[in-house]
Amino acid sequence: MTLPTIMIIKGTTQLLGVIGYPVEHSFSPLMHNAAIAYLAADYAYLPFPIRPADLKAAIAGFSAIGVQGFNITIPHKQSIIPLLDDVSEVAQAIGAVNTVWRSETGWHGTNTDAAGFLAPLKALNREWSSTPVVILGNGGAARAVVAACYQLGCSQIWVMGRSPDKLKHFAQSWSADIASKLSTLDWEQLGDYLPKAGLVVNATPIGMHPKVTASPLSEAEIGLIPQDALAYDLIYTPRPTQFLQQASAAGLTAIDGLEMLVQQGSAALEIWLKQPVPVAIMRQALLDHLAGQQP
Ligand code: NAP
Repeated sequence: MTLPTIMIIKGTTQLLGVIGYPVEHSFSPLMHNAAIAYLAADYAYLPFPIRPADLKAAIAGFSAIGVQGFNITIPHKQSIIPLLDDVSEVAQAIGAVNTVWRSETGWHGTNTDAAGFLAPLKALNREWSSTPVVILGNGGAARAVVAACYQLGCSQIWVMGRSPDKLKHFAQSWSADIASKLSTLDWEQLGDYLPKAGLVVNATPIGMHPKVTASPLSEAEIGLIPQDALAYDLIYTPRPTQFLQQASAAGLTAIDGLEMLVQQGSAALEIWLKQPVPVAIMRQALLDHLAGQQP
């Protein structure tokens, strides 16, 4: 597939972007601009490094200059919420916004990470109501995974963490519906829960480039997971991670984080452009970029 490379910026071109601090590592400009060029849409998508102390001023500036929408990455996913005019139910449940768009009534926020996480799972023919899930980590991405697994109908959601205080706070931060299926557990209890899991999700950065030989689970722990279970790593560099290599070797089905990245991005672009977007072009732009980064 040949990707279009020319974008024409005109007097009418509308602005989209991603805010974060830092933001240089973001693949979003690459992925979104590839789709924008393919569609010959009159938009451009830029990275905006915004310090936490400057967030309010930056959003006021976006209003003033007519920015149409933006993605949000660390550290602004929670702190953006009070600056918005409304926030979707899913973003409220997750407690974080990753996509903002404007209308005549102001700034609207949602979270497309849960939908992005779900996309490769929905393509599988599984009975989710009998699938318990083990989630490794209790950070921002784990929140989207919990909301997604609840939406999928997973029977139990077990979140493993290493900090009792953070786990307690995490457990208390959900609606009664979600809390009824959720248990937060100490990492030490993994051995009791892995043998019952139908889906094991790595929502920690363990194994992410450059520490590519690290894995959140030992070989022995991987061996405890039932063979018909899925191993899902949110990490997309390297592909595959050590965790997914171990899981595949043990006969499990492995899913990496690339499709989640593509799908959360395409869901955001669809909101801004109000039209279907070329998901394959976005995926290919990322694959080409990642292939160029391989050592
Ligand atoms: P985060 O908010 O910093 O959370 C990281 C979690 O991992 C925390 O619970 C942290 O525990 C835990 N953790 C870190 N190192 C650990 C270790 N050595 N042992 C046990 N637990 C450890 O990060 P995040 O935003 O959730 O991101 C997590 C991963 O998901 C990253 O690799 C990120 O790239 C990936 N991600 C992928 C996508 C995608 O589209 N594919 C989207 C979002 C995130 P403590 O709180 O105790 O430190």
